[in-house]
Amino acid sequence: MKILVANIGSTSLKWRLFDCSSAPERLLHKGGFERVTDYPKAIEDCLGELKAGGHIQQDSDLAAVGFKTVVAKGVSGCVALTEEVLGAMEAFNAIAPAHNPPYITGIRLFAKRMPAVPLIGLFETAFYQWAPEAGVRYAVPQAWYEAGVRRWGFHGASHKFIAERSAELLGRPDVAERARNLYVDGGATAVQGAPLRVISCHLGGSSSITGIRNGVAVGNSLGFSPQSGLPHNNRVGDLDSFAIPFVMRTLGLSIDEVERQLCKEGGLKGISGVSNDIRDIQTAAAGGNAQAKLALDVFFHSARHWIGAYLLELNGADAIVFTAGIGENRPELRAALCQGLDQLGILLDPVANEKVRAVEGVISSPESRVKLLVIPTNEELVVARETKRLLDRK
Ligand code: ADP
Repeated sequence: MKILVANIGSTSLKWRLFDCSSAPERLLHKGGFERVTDYPKAIEDCLGELKAGGHIQQDSDLAAVGFKTVVAKGVSGCVALTEEVLGAMEAFNAIAPAHNPPYITGIRLFAKRMPAVPLIGLFETAFYQWAPEAGVRYAVPQAWYEAGVRRWGFHGASHKFIAERSAELLGRPDVAERARNLYVDGGATAVQGAPLRVISCHLGGSSSITGIRNGVAVGNSLGFSPQSGLPHNNRVGDLDSFAIPFVMRTLGLSIDEVERQLCKEGGLKGISGVSNDIRDIQTAAAGGNAQAKLALDVFFHSARHWIGAYLLELNGADAIVFTAGIGENRPELRAALCQGLDQLGILLDPVANEKVRAVEGVISSPESRVKLLVIPTNEELVVARETKRLLDRK
């Protein structure tokens, strides 16, 4: 069973082809195009590469195409991408303007190109469907809530991968099984023993932190939109809502300009004035740039704030996991996040931490009550697995 996972950006198409016939799934091919101006051609070229490589003979060799869709009105989980679902995504374009519109366009092009191949979306909000209501509700008027203003949570595919994999590494196959079945049975898979408490830190171009109890998310630092929580590369993160009318009035900014600055001129780039890549910011900070140093400090402060929130909610943690570009590759940033937490039972092993880059590994010292883990995420694999589960159920 071959499943293509397509990652659609406004000017990019990336893909991975998995053979999901038996576990473990096999990655057969990955590729992509940047600076795409002709999307139908990009899809054609993608299929051409798969055929030229001998991975498929014809389009119908694909059991499905899976997409890491973001958010839709009244729809979450893993679903067939019907016109109705695409309409529900369209209804929430304003929540994820950088993600939903290109996905909708791309999915419609795939549907036109291969009408017989099932197109399936795994929504990034799916992992938070079982989070407690008190944790997802903003204190807004009921009409706002009904219109969709609530904490949705994002990066669901990544945090779900961490839920499953961390449970395996922590010797809890029961919890791994529960996480694996979550979108099929809604968490009904039984677990034995003490609850497994994991805090998953997805730190990358965009960052989020999630608390996970027994394989199920209790919440996510990303709220209503992918603009919230930690400061991101160039997107603002958490902000008091009253700042927006304030800057419109005092700086004379239009709503469109405010929106542009929040998602293009904010975040680490906004504070540092240097770059939206944390490596450049670190270099500048090391060279004495105070704004760059401040950007890093704001990032640490926010990440620790969210780790703290989930430590309390989970009544401690068995493990804190670092993943994504920064989490997997930047030991010095992991060390900064874990500094001075010995009273919470969090002790980093500096030598192990330095060694673990872009691979799985334990970076806590043996005395640490909380295990510190690095786990490279695999969002596309989660999309492929859930796509297969949906096909198997049908
Ligand atoms: P996205 O959220 O866009 O998928 P990534 O997870 O790739 O982003 O993370 C991007 C961030 O991670 C950048 O700030 C970059 O500096 C850092 N990063 C990514 N890969 C590496 C690497 N191999 N070495 C060091 N830093 C990295």
